[in-house]
Amino acid sequence: MTTPDWLAAGQRHVWLPYTQMKTAGAQLPVVSASGSRLKLADGRELVDGIASWWTAAHGYRHPHIETTVERQLKTLPHVMLGGLAHEQAYRLATRLAALLPADLDHVFFSESGSVAVEIAMKMAVQYWLNQGERRTRFLSFTGGYHGDTLATMSVCDPDEGMHGMFRGVVPDQFVVDLTPDSVDAALEKHGAEIAAVLVEPLVQGAGGMRFHDAEMLRHLRAACDRHGALLIFDEIFVGFGRLGEALFACEEAGVTPDIITLSKALTGGTLPLSATIARDRVFDAFLSDDPAKALMHGPTYMGNALACAAANASLDLFEQEPRLDQARAIGALLAERLEAVRGTPGVADVRTKGALGVIELTRMRDSDWLKARFIEEGIWLRPFGNIIYTTPPLTTDLDDVARIADVMVRVTRE
Ligand SMILES: *Cc1c(COP(=O)(O)O)cnc(C)c1O
Repeated sequence: MTTPDWLAAGQRHVWLPYTQMKTAGAQLPVVSASGSRLKLADGRELVDGIASWWTAAHGYRHPHIETTVERQLKTLPHVMLGGLAHEQAYRLATRLAALLPADLDHVFFSESGSVAVEIAMKMAVQYWLNQGERRTRFLSFTGGYHGDTLATMSVCDPDEGMHGMFRGVVPDQFVVDLTPDSVDAALEKHGAEIAAVLVEPLVQGAGGMRFHDAEMLRHLRAACDRHGALLIFDEIFVGFGRLGEALFACEEAGVTPDIITLSKALTGGTLPLSATIARDRVFDAFLSDDPAKALMHGPTYMGNALACAAANASLDLFEQEPRLDQARAIGALLAERLEAVRGTPGVADVRTKGALGVIELTRMRDSDWLKARFIEEGIWLRPFGNIIYTTPPLTTDLDDVARIADVMVRVTRE
């Protein structure tokens, strides 16, 4: 493969995510992307099976997002939200509030998923402080993933969050199995200390792609109400139609959290943006004559106009194009094709939900070998842990979805 000069020169300087740099090989140089295809420097094309960490819901370079962002770039790329207002952020907040159930009406913008979760945690603690109560801990779940910053690591799965290695730096939280009994036991014992319960509703994503049902979430809601704890849904993975039934998992489950976090597909995979959205009950606890009771947070680039324009364009597309139907069609095809690998030695489980397909292995022998085989077959996938998964753009045509699934099956068998 030809190595472009910028890759050869920059390789020593770019510190890669989740990568042992001592053994890291050259990364694949991508020169352009379109629809569900990535074009490499040597002319090869890959079908993107994970939509850049499931952000590119409408595929790459959807013309509506492209023209909207271009127009915004030429009028107002960014202005600080501290004291100044601009149309894109205000319209986006109004639209998100209208789309989300009940009184999830108060939108705080930031630029990454981890920060949105940090803000949700800070909001929950201060919600209690503002009412004269000190609740500083969180209940979260094994198999969960909520980000890579120090506070969000503390509510991830203990292995994923490297709680052992970072003992003393990452705060101690209550992380239990996501079962009604564990939830009840933890809240009965520690309820008075717990500011909020954090969960990825219906599917725990990057921590292992585990599924649970709406009944579990109803149980959580009731348990939180019993003990006064706030309920936070982290929909950074499941939000924006990934699961095929509704735009948000809270809608599908019919359970309304007190705070919800969104990011990833919010801008359709174009610009970094996230939102922490609270119900009246939470927001009202910050209303006071005492300035110290305000939410003391304010990322420099919060509500960036380019990102908000992209998000507004992305919401237009969810309104105008049949994304949920497409997600369901992708899901049906993935369910049918991936089933072929069930029962293969080394395969622990096959599961699908919406435009998400998962093959769980009993043990991952060599994820680098897998990745290389997928690339040989013209597919971009990035297995982790024991998991081979696909989260393609929701616009991926069904021939490409079949190709992704068939390659997953074939390579797993090998
Ligand atoms: C990706 C993800 C995050 C972290 O988002 P970043 O933008 O990577 O910081 C948090 N929660 C969930 C559920 C995620 O999938």
